[in-house]
Amino acid sequence: MIDLTEADEKTVIAAERFKSYKMNGWLQKDLTVASLMDEEFTNTGASRMVPAKLKKDGNFDAHSKVINQDELKGLHEFLQTKMVDIGNRMTAGETSILPYNKDNKKLACTFCPFESVCQFDPTLPGNDYRDIPKLDDAEALQKMMDLSAKREGEK
Ligand code: SF4
Repeated sequence: MIDLTEADEKTVIAAERFKSYKMNGWLQKDLTVASLMDEEFTNTGASRMVPAKLKKDGNFDAHSKVINQDELKGLHEFLQTKMVDIGNRMTAGETSILPYNKDNKKLACTFCPFESVCQFDPTLPGNDYRDIPKLDDAEALQKMMDLSAKREGEK
């Protein structure tokens, strides 16, 4: 059993709290933006909340979750188009049940409280999961950029 003093306990709690606040999305590849998000990053080049770290030469290290302005723009355009597409399909009356299956490890239904309502049953014909391909961050971003460029070319 670990015996912590009250001060140790407060330090552990604060550390855990910071861990839960850590952002897990992408950040604009811009030192000013990262610095404005957390004073700790400004002072030390690392942060318990911002997903970026600086190398000794002052640039972001390879593990930093940063993307440049064009990539950020492509990501916004992709999300905007996706939302419009989903909205259009809903207003057109599409009601298909297609829960995701991410690499056979994460299923949309696992934590969903509506199973008794939707009656989805993968053993029944026509009740299929929508497979989501396994992509790392760079691959996913590239796919979104490609789609964004393709749409731009179609305008
Ligand atoms: S239980 Fe039903 S509503 Fe929930 S994610 Fe699965 S298919 Fe969708």
